[in-house]
Amino acid sequence: TSEIAQARRIVTEIPGPKSRAVQERRKQAVAQGVGSVLPVYVERAGGGIVEDIDGNALIDFGSGIAVTNVGNADPRVVERATEQLSRFTHTCFMVNPYEGYVEVCEALNRVTPGDHEKRSILLNSGAEAVENAVKIARSATGRQAVIVFDHAYHGRTNLTMALTSKNMPYKQGFGPFAGEVYRMPMAYPFRWPTGPENCGPEAARQAIDQISKQIGAENVAAVLIEPIQGEGGFIEPGTGFLPELAEFCRANGIVFVADEVQTGFARTGQMFACEHEGVVPDLITTAKGIAGGLPLAAVTGRADLMDAVHSGGLGGTYGGNPAACAAALAALEAIESADLAGRARAIGATMLKRLRALAATHDIIGDVRGRGAMIAIELVKGGGDMTPATDAVAEVMRYCHSQGLVLLTAGTYGNVIRMLPPLVIGDDLLDEGLSILEEAFARL
Ligand code: PMP
Repeated sequence: TSEIAQARRIVTEIPGPKSRAVQERRKQAVAQGVGSVLPVYVERAGGGIVEDIDGNALIDFGSGIAVTNVGNADPRVVERATEQLSRFTHTCFMVNPYEGYVEVCEALNRVTPGDHEKRSILLNSGAEAVENAVKIARSATGRQAVIVFDHAYHGRTNLTMALTSKNMPYKQGFGPFAGEVYRMPMAYPFRWPTGPENCGPEAARQAIDQISKQIGAENVAAVLIEPIQGEGGFIEPGTGFLPELAEFCRANGIVFVADEVQTGFARTGQMFACEHEGVVPDLITTAKGIAGGLPLAAVTGRADLMDAVHSGGLGGTYGGNPAACAAALAALEAIESADLAGRARAIGATMLKRLRALAATHDIIGDVRGRGAMIAIELVKGGGDMTPATDAVAEVMRYCHSQGLVLLTAGTYGNVIRMLPPLVIGDDLLDEGLSILEEAFARL
């Protein structure tokens, strides 16, 4: 990594000449509904670097939105997926089963929280995993209502749009949405009216009260929650919120679903984020980091729930593609053998230290939060004014992008800057990325 860092050309202006030409073509080729954060086109990527077609080496604080936890083009992932592709590319597991699919399910059953008997089903995307988890919960309970939370993000399909909180850009103009979805206030410590220390217990009481009085626990199939909200702005619910909700679900026959699509596979410093508070979900949805960059997703959970669904009711043509399964087995091996959860904790410690120091001298950084390699800062007007500082975020992003730092925003108000470096990023690149961010604040 240090060699790449040495060779890294600091870009002062993007896009470069080749990118500009591609940009022109793109205007005709790509539908307006697909946007992009950076105007550069990728040539190759690995470690903590994304190299563009002009030869600019960008520092990767995005991991393709929390996907390349083991790094981009990891040699073990590439080798195993390539070997699989050379034997057979696709048969459809529902037609001709293959061992790789079963091995991934076994691995998921082993690494997810809880010692109970489990089953897994493989799918293609996070949204599909969430859709299937809801179908399983409804089928197993014979109930319909699904509980979700403010600021949640669960996908862009019809049902997952309904489960998602933010209207623009995810839902605007795409209704009508699926029914029987009920949204509860989120335990958002930074913005909790009576202070962060009261947030967990108070928010749990509120949600439980609302579910009991307004919906009736006996009508609820599932409570669906991201243990740390991703697109919502890396909101980790106040302590006690998740365990209390899980206990309420257990006592009322409600399926507790943890959406770990963004937080899974060592990202937050544990294999799964619900482990930070010792919560064992009934079902867990995963995707993103599962297969080192190939499209794969899963629902893993209690055997009695998974077995309640009639044969043929779940699945799809591509679910658990052989190459994606091979990649997942290599990625999981890499995560476990290199203790990438430990590495995520070390990355988090470095980031939190420097970002807290930055916040101490910049009033507009209202909150520094997150776990492992999933860290965010929330920008506000400052001086006690919590109004979201969206313009400042745009200015910081502009500078960081111009200096070749791949960085993403998040949050309902768009005032959160989130950092998701690959877990294999070296200390030098991590430091350089953070320095660019510090410079951006110095220039504000
Ligand atoms: N759930 C969560 C928590 C997510 O972060 C995402 C993706 N950002 C999804 C679901 C949807 O995943 P996908 O984009 O693969 O459909």
